[in-house]
Amino acid sequence: MTGTILIADAVATRRIALRAQLGGAFRRVVLAASGAEALEAARREPAEVLLAASDLPDLSVAEMRQRLGDTARGAASPALAVLTPEADRAARLDALTAGADDAITRCTAAPLLLARLRRLLRDREDTAELRLREATRRALGFAEPPAGFDRPAKVALLASRPAQVEALSAAFGARVRQIDRRGVLALGPGDALDALVLAEGGTGPCAAALVPALRAQRATRAAVLLVQASGAGAEADAAQALDMGAQDALAGPFDAEELALRLAARLAAKRRADRLRDHLHEGLDAAVTDPLTGLYNRRFALPKLAHLTEEALVTGRSLAVLIADLDHFKAINDAYGHAAGDAVLAETAARIRRSLTEQDIAARLGGEEFLVVLPGRDAAAAERTGRRLCRIIAETPFALRGRDESVQVTVSIGIAAVPGAAGPTPASSGPQGAEALLERADRALYSAKARGRNRVSAHRSAA
Ligand code: GH3
Ligand code: MG
Ligand code: MG
Repeated sequence: MTGTILIADAVATRRIALRAQLGGAFRRVVLAASGAEALEAARREPAEVLLAASDLPDLSVAEMRQRLGDTARGAASPALAVLTPEADRAARLDALTAGADDAITRCTAAPLLLARLRRLLRDREDTAELRLREATRRALGFAEPPAGFDRPAKVALLASRPAQVEALSAAFGARVRQIDRRGVLALGPGDALDALVLAEGGTGPCAAALVPALRAQRATRAAVLLVQASGAGAEADAAQALDMGAQDALAGPFDAEELALRLAARLAAKRRADRLRDHLHEGLDAAVTDPLTGLYNRRFALPKLAHLTEEALVTGRSLAVLIADLDHFKAINDAYGHAAGDAVLAETAARIRRSLTEQDIAARLGGEEFLVVLPGRDAAAAERTGRRLCRIIAETPFALRGRDESVQVTVSIGIAAVPGAAGPTPASSGPQGAEALLERADRALYSAKARGRNRVSAHRSAA
C-alpha cells in the first residue's frame, strides 16, 4: 500500500507491535502517543489512514473524527479506523456509532487487518476522485447536487435462520428480506438490491466465495455487499471477501447490531457516491447539449465531425453532412415574438431527430441553423434524407402554444459528402477535412436559398 498511515496509541509497546504487524505495507508509518499528536502529524503531512486506539486518553472517537476533517483543509481527510480491545463488542459498536470508518479488534491477524486497510484506502480514493470532479463541475458554474429523496433501501440477507433476518430487520430499523443461495444468483435485472448481507453459516463453501458472481450479475453489481464470515477460517474468508470487492466483512458469530451499523454507514456512502456520479453525468451531458432543443451543441458537433471526416478519409467509408437553415425565420420572430420563435426551433429539432437513425448526429450550430452528420451515407442518400426533412417540416404547420393559429415553416438544406466508396482519397483531390466539408455544405445551402428556399441543394465536387 502506498501513502502514509498514522498510528495513535498511548501504549508504546502496542504502537510498535502494530507497526511491525503492518510489515512495511505502507510507504510511511508515523507513530503518535496521543490524539493531539496524531492530529498535529496529520496537519503536517497528509495521511491516508489514522489507526487510533479506542482508549486514547485525550480524545474521543467523535472528537477525532470531527477534528481530522479540519486538518484536511479541503482535501480528503484520512480514513479513521479504531482499534478496540479483544472481545470488547461495546467499544466496537461505540466507535462505529461515533463515525469511525472501521472498528477493528486488536487481535485481528495481519492478513485481515491489511485487507481492511486496503478497503479503506480504496473507498477513500473513490470518494476523493468524485469530490474532485464535483468541485470542478461546480467551478464551471453547475449547481450543487440536490439533497434528494431517498427511497427505502432494498436489503436482503442470505442466511439460513429466519431469526437472523428478524434480528437484522429490527437492528436496521427497516425490512430486510431473506434470500437463499439459489435465489440470490437468480435475481432478475428488475430485482436490483441496494445491499446484500451474506451470512450463511454452517457447512458448504463460504458465502464470501459468491462475491465475484454477485459483482458480475446485474441485480447485485452495484449493491453494497457485506459478508459475515463465521466458523473455522472466518478471518481468511473475510479478508478474501474484502479483497474481492465486498464493502465490508466481519469474522465471528452473527451480530445483527454490528451488521446494521456497518450496513447503514455503507449505504449512506453509496447514496452520496451515486448522487455525485449522477450529477456528474448530468454536468457532462449539459456541456455538450443545446439547452433549447436538446440536440448536441456546436462544441460537441464540430470536433466529432472532424473525427468522423478523418476516419472516412482514411478508411474510404462514406460520410455526408447536411446543413439546414430555417427560411425567413426572422419573420416568425417578428410576427409572433421570440418565445414563439424558440418553440419553432425546438419543434424543428424534434422533427429532425425523429426522422434520423440512432447513428446519425444532429446538432444545433447556432441560431436557426442545424447540422446533421450521416456516417456511412453518400451524397445520394443524404439528398433523400434532406428531401424527407424538408417535407416533414413543411407539410405540417407548427402549432403556436396558447394561440389558435399555426405557422407554416420551411427549411433550406445544403449537402456535401466525403467522396467515399472508391477507397482512400488521394491527397491531391482538393481540400479535405471537416472544415472543407462544412464550407461546401454551406455553399450548397446558399444555393438552395437562392433557388427559392424549401429545397435541398448538393455540392457536387469536381472529382
Ligand atoms: P433566411 O431564409 O435567409 O435564412 O432568413 P432568416 O430570417 O431565417 O435569416 P436571418 O439570418 O436574417 O435571421 C435569423 C434570425 O434568427 C435572426 C435572429 O433573431 C433569430 N434567432 C437566432 N437565434 C434565435 C433563438 O435562439 N431564438 C429565436 N427565437 N430567434 C433566434
Ligand atoms: Mg434562416
Ligand atoms: Mg441562418
